[in-house]
Amino acid sequence: MSQQDIQTVRTSHGKEVKVHTHLFINNEFVPGHGPLIETINPATEEVICAVHSADESDVDTAVQAAKLCYRSTYRKLAPSEKGRLLNKLADLMERDKDEIATLDALDNGKAFTIARDVDVTDSISCFRYYAGWADKIHGKTIDTTFDKMCYTRHEPLGVVGAVIPWNYPTMMAVWKFAPALAAGNTIVMKTSELTPLPLYKFAELVKEAGFPAGAVNIITGYGHTTGAFLTGHHDISKMAFTGSTLTARKIMESSAQSNIKKLQLELGGKSAQIVCADADLASAAVWASGGIFNNHGQSCNAGSRILVQEDVFDQFMALFIAEAKKIVIGDPFAEDTFQGPQISKGQFEKILNYIKIGQEEGAVLAYGGKRWGDKGYYIEPTVFTHCKNNFRIMQEEIFGPVVAISTFKTVEEAIEMANDSIYGLAGGVYTKDLDTAVTVSNELQAGTVWVNCFDVFDQSTPFGGYKQSGFGKELGKYALHEYTQVKVVKIQRQGL
Ligand code: NAD
Repeated sequence: MSQQDIQTVRTSHGKEVKVHTHLFINNEFVPGHGPLIETINPATEEVICAVHSADESDVDTAVQAAKLCYRSTYRKLAPSEKGRLLNKLADLMERDKDEIATLDALDNGKAFTIARDVDVTDSISCFRYYAGWADKIHGKTIDTTFDKMCYTRHEPLGVVGAVIPWNYPTMMAVWKFAPALAAGNTIVMKTSELTPLPLYKFAELVKEAGFPAGAVNIITGYGHTTGAFLTGHHDISKMAFTGSTLTARKIMESSAQSNIKKLQLELGGKSAQIVCADADLASAAVWASGGIFNNHGQSCNAGSRILVQEDVFDQFMALFIAEAKKIVIGDPFAEDTFQGPQISKGQFEKILNYIKIGQEEGAVLAYGGKRWGDKGYYIEPTVFTHCKNNFRIMQEEIFGPVVAISTFKTVEEAIEMANDSIYGLAGGVYTKDLDTAVTVSNELQAGTVWVNCFDVFDQSTPFGGYKQSGFGKELGKYALHEYTQVKVVKIQRQGL
């Protein structure tokens, strides 16, 4: 495979950035032997550059590098040293924040300011949070009988594999790197073939931070080849996956057919936001709008269904549409842009098709519904009302800036509608009544419930789904359980 590693690429506002295009294995950028993959700028529909992809032998090389590093070096490092490395990496990300955010915005289409102030800033916090945990991962001593004692060890799993999607190219990676490395594992990560660039910049920083060669390996490639080789590898002890439910099924099969590796699956969603009549409607409209339109609707937890209590429907809709109208769409590098293009032509067409389906099903198109501009994969924020629960736009994940709105009479009815979904990632309720807030929070079949807010994250709080939204938690102390296994040691006291 020919092509120099470092390429110069240009953003839509004319800034030049140098990017790596080779695989990162054993702290070196090395050519891959899979096909070259062209990555597209979704704002212009033009090719940014081509990157190398990993074939089966490259995947194996990366896994063996991670395995050797785990056995010979990383597991022997003092926990405090692992914490120091994570903090150093956070410092380097802070230094190069603008460059990482530029690549996130260029490759993914998200607004540069949001990539910098949310995605990259939160990723830095995530490393710092887990740096603090690295030397606080302890077992317990357990006295069983007078003549025996027992203790537990929270041991790393070994080599962890990870496959991530394109919607938060840096943040989804860091949510896995940080707890995995803090807990003492080494890792091989496959980035999405749609957004390979930001993590190669990150790889440079991994090396500069001083991580031992092989602790972090970053490869890219198509899912059905590179991804499948990784998930089927016998030396990977766990796969952390974020992506679609469809792909998760394949990964579960692959785990079953190979070495029954542990799985952690963060999948899709169709989260409901319930607006009660007693809510502060102006505030609810602001949060609910962000809840669906943040990241162009390309969030697994997007509040893509809104259920409004009948009595306040007209009032809420006026406020909500006013919020949708405020959304500034445009060049990801323009200072005031909130919404950039969708990630790809495929996603763009899929979303426009769902808008057509919504109209055919009989929903009322209250706002938007069209392509925005004539270049780039932009779609207007789109609002459907009068949706019935069995409509496809109420049940299927659209993963775009499209919201389906319906009404309810009683809170019990709202809970039933919200739970009528194969997904269970998140949900929200807007109310001033404490009893309603607690009842809805307890009854929603969802891994996260937001009350009078939506899409609020913190490194210390766990995130993960119920039902077909997956299992296992990212973030918080809970994520450490996903990257450790518990050993029990039992000792007989002699000479008593
Ligand atoms: P996807 O499942 O097609 O791809 C995700 C990743 O899986 C990519 O890196 C892809 O190359 C890889 N992949 C595809 N087939 C594979 C296979 N057979 N074996 C191994 N890897 C494979 O999803 P997508 O289109 O990138 O992302 C959109 C979907 O992901 C949506 O449904 C969304 O809800 C979900 N998602 C969930 C979360 C979450 O945190 N729960 C976050 C982001 C996206």
